[in-house]
Amino acid sequence: MGAEVASSSRNDKLENDNEIMNPLKFYSTNHLSEEVTFSRALLQGQAPDRGLYMPVAVPKITAAEMERYHNLDYPGIAFDVTRRFMVGEIPDEELMRIVKESYNYDVPLEPVYNRNYVMRLDRGPTASFKDFAARMMGRLMQYYLKKENRKLLILTATSGDTGSAVANAFYGLDNVTIVVLFPEHEVTDRQRKQMTTLGKNVHILSLDAKFDDCQALVKQAFSDPELKHLPLSSANSINIGRLVPQIVYYFYAWSRLSKTEGEKVVFSVPSGNFGDMMGGVLALKMGLPVKRFIIATNENDEFPVYLNTGTYNKIEPSRNCISSAMNVGHPSNLARLVDLYGGIMDEKGNISNPADMVLMQKELFSVSINDEQTRATIKEAYDKFGLLLEPHGAVGWAGLMEYFRSEPGHNDPDQLCVSLETAHPAKFPDEITRITGINPELPESLKGIDHLPEFVTPLEFRYGAFKEYLKQLK
Ligand SMILES: *Cc1c(COP(=O)(O)O)cnc(C)c1O
Repeated sequence: MGAEVASSSRNDKLENDNEIMNPLKFYSTNHLSEEVTFSRALLQGQAPDRGLYMPVAVPKITAAEMERYHNLDYPGIAFDVTRRFMVGEIPDEELMRIVKESYNYDVPLEPVYNRNYVMRLDRGPTASFKDFAARMMGRLMQYYLKKENRKLLILTATSGDTGSAVANAFYGLDNVTIVVLFPEHEVTDRQRKQMTTLGKNVHILSLDAKFDDCQALVKQAFSDPELKHLPLSSANSINIGRLVPQIVYYFYAWSRLSKTEGEKVVFSVPSGNFGDMMGGVLALKMGLPVKRFIIATNENDEFPVYLNTGTYNKIEPSRNCISSAMNVGHPSNLARLVDLYGGIMDEKGNISNPADMVLMQKELFSVSINDEQTRATIKEAYDKFGLLLEPHGAVGWAGLMEYFRSEPGHNDPDQLCVSLETAHPAKFPDEITRITGINPELPESLKGIDHLPEFVTPLEFRYGAFKEYLKQLK
């Protein structure tokens, strides 16, 4: 008996050692940088060759392992899914602590009709789905930075929700200073206040420019040799640390709603920079039974056109729509998607090696929804089903309806479908009240910010001005 215990604990130890020696590696989608482990990719953000990090092998989850998810809570599933990307680089107790702290709020799956559901990813502290990624990424970064006694200067451009989620997740952390750039005409008052009412280690810059312009400044800073001395990193969805947590809720939805082993789900994902949908596609590659992903964009239709024709043209400048967090003319995660389907796309959007478009079309369906359709969808969903959607979630729901209409076979009442709602309706009160006549109640986390003082620095839209600002930061 005693000997058995000893030998089994020795086996455990051997397995652990093995894991420590072989953490999963990540390569750059531009294939010109070295492979790195999860913690390096997390702290670096973008690869030195300006590509995006991807796992050399997508970890697999078997059907038997997935069956256990029915009995795990959200943090439990988050632990099991994300651990596979960072095994050997973080002790299990630490990872468990991080997922428990990060996911201390509800993830409602609201039934609508037949087997169609809306997954509300809006119950975090900033009431957008970006909390899922930012809270976990912030805590992972803090863990590694503290361990290595290092500091980081995080630069992030936001079209609305990234900035607040990231600022909130990093607020008050010792080892991190954060700078957020936002287009002043493209965010709502509440979105702005969620960023500007923090202060401390959170620096907010407002620009008379578009989101793409803000993102271009951040990208230029990263490649500026004169800023090499600054410990720059990014928290945009190009960071693998943002992507990995976004795989989890797809597994969670399946674990709560599927009725039979291996039952396939249709997911509809309102998309801008494609971080959210990349989480879904990675879940599929890990083994999640998915029938189809619907990638719903607003009027920035570069992706639906690409999926249907194989020809990619970014949209410059990006088109302004009421789903403002999705006003993206060239999704920063698209290089990852192309990579996953065997192609190569560089950071400028040039495709040097085409992706497997046949497989992509089989697994993905994409449609562009204009503002008029978005508003009509908010009204119809509310009138018909009492379903309250904000503009981003409405694009997702409209995408699902378009999918049903596209082929008779798609509209099967027994098919399980989940449409993602990515923000709380109270973040867009004007639009919602005008359309439905009701004023959505503020979630607890948003109450009170309307009257707090704001800390914000207006910045001229010029790279030199941004650079000077960064150089004077303490
Ligand atoms: C960021 C955001 C999106 C788009 O997500 P991506 O990962 O960039 O595709 C959709 N809805 C809301 C509310 C967002 O904040």
